[in-house]
Amino acid sequence: MSVETSNPGPHLDFRGYSSGKEPVNMSVTSDQVAAIRSAAEKYYEPMIKFAQESVRTKSLSGQEQDMAKLLKDELEKLGYDEVWIDDVGNTIGKWTGSGSGKSVQFNSHIDHVHEGDPGLWSRPPYDAVIEDDVLYGRAASDVKGGLAPQVYLLPVLKEAGLAPVGDVYITGVVLEEVGGFGAYHLCKTMPTDLAVLSEASNNEIRRGHRGRNGVQVTFTGLSVHASAPSRGHNPHYALARFLQKVETLEMKPHSTFGGSTVAPTLISTDQTSGNVTPGALTVLLDWRSIPGESHDEVKEVVYEIAKASEIEGVTATVDVIMRPVSTYTGIAAEMPPTRGYEVDADSPIVSAAVESLGTAFEKEIPTGVWQFATDGGHLNHFGIPTIGYSPCEEHFAHTIHDQVSLAKMRDSLIGHSVLALGLTAIK
Ligand SMILES: [Zn+2]
Repeated sequence: MSVETSNPGPHLDFRGYSSGKEPVNMSVTSDQVAAIRSAAEKYYEPMIKFAQESVRTKSLSGQEQDMAKLLKDELEKLGYDEVWIDDVGNTIGKWTGSGSGKSVQFNSHIDHVHEGDPGLWSRPPYDAVIEDDVLYGRAASDVKGGLAPQVYLLPVLKEAGLAPVGDVYITGVVLEEVGGFGAYHLCKTMPTDLAVLSEASNNEIRRGHRGRNGVQVTFTGLSVHASAPSRGHNPHYALARFLQKVETLEMKPHSTFGGSTVAPTLISTDQTSGNVTPGALTVLLDWRSIPGESHDEVKEVVYEIAKASEIEGVTATVDVIMRPVSTYTGIAAEMPPTRGYEVDADSPIVSAAVESLGTAFEKEIPTGVWQFATDGGHLNHFGIPTIGYSPCEEHFAHTIHDQVSLAKMRDSLIGHSVLALGLTAIK
């Protein structure tokens, strides 16, 4: 644990250090943490209320308009300097920094997965019931329970008389659950120096994940009556060779993630009758890639073994599955597979986050990687070092037990306020 206790300064206002517009490279002090803690008290209730309203505002991927509006109204109400909705429907709030420090976006996706059968839920998925200090409902843990503390970092810091030295953005992005087109668009139109995602981290720090590629391999032969197989070319035998090669394929190792993995999942045929040999067979591979392993590279490896599996009269084709999406604003796009990424454990963003949060909570803050994929793959690909920090818990995401602890949200409000100071001050 690293606790910065020296040089708290005569007052707590970061603006006091910024007259020269030079980035201030200093750790968050215990006095600043004390000011944040006391200021935060006032905002616990409105933050939780906003989280409740967010859960009540259903916003499936491609239908985020009501949530985008709710977020825009909240950001305006809280005094963000500029608030707007961009072409693809992302909501953005900007708080102009007091100096020329790093720009940091606190990023939450505003879409969520479907609730499934509401009858299976113990509490209605969009009622946002609070019981025993827990908020229940779809998206509570993925990620509306993480969005609220991000949004409320501004009033807390202002109340505490503090201001980040770099620009702080709250970015509510669309379509994360279906490939991340909102974040992808933001990378190209409004890149920031750094990013913090509200994807579930249990108030710990996350610094990467593997990517996911769907690779479709089709073997095409000649379909005939199954009573006379020699007249045709049965793709089953080529597929059998191929699957054996997949099973023994040498995967790339990785020190953090263990390595990439590949698993055949679905198989389909062009026939529906049991007495006809198939003309074509398609197998889907779920390929989890390590950071830096591109989908072109994955496709090349699969292509090689698919070609080597061809038999007389049977040819192979390989496609990486792209995802067609459309925004509620009417823009259509095709998304590439999710990218894996990793920022180093000793990179400036991770070090600054560990140090700032360590000071705030007077304990060692664990760091780790996510099991699932996030928009961080896009952000990092575009050169924006990205970490995760969120009160949400991974095991509740996408389940009928979707929930977020209000105690963790309150802690996270303090954590986010501290991160806004600490990360913008990175030299
Ligand atoms: Zn999700």
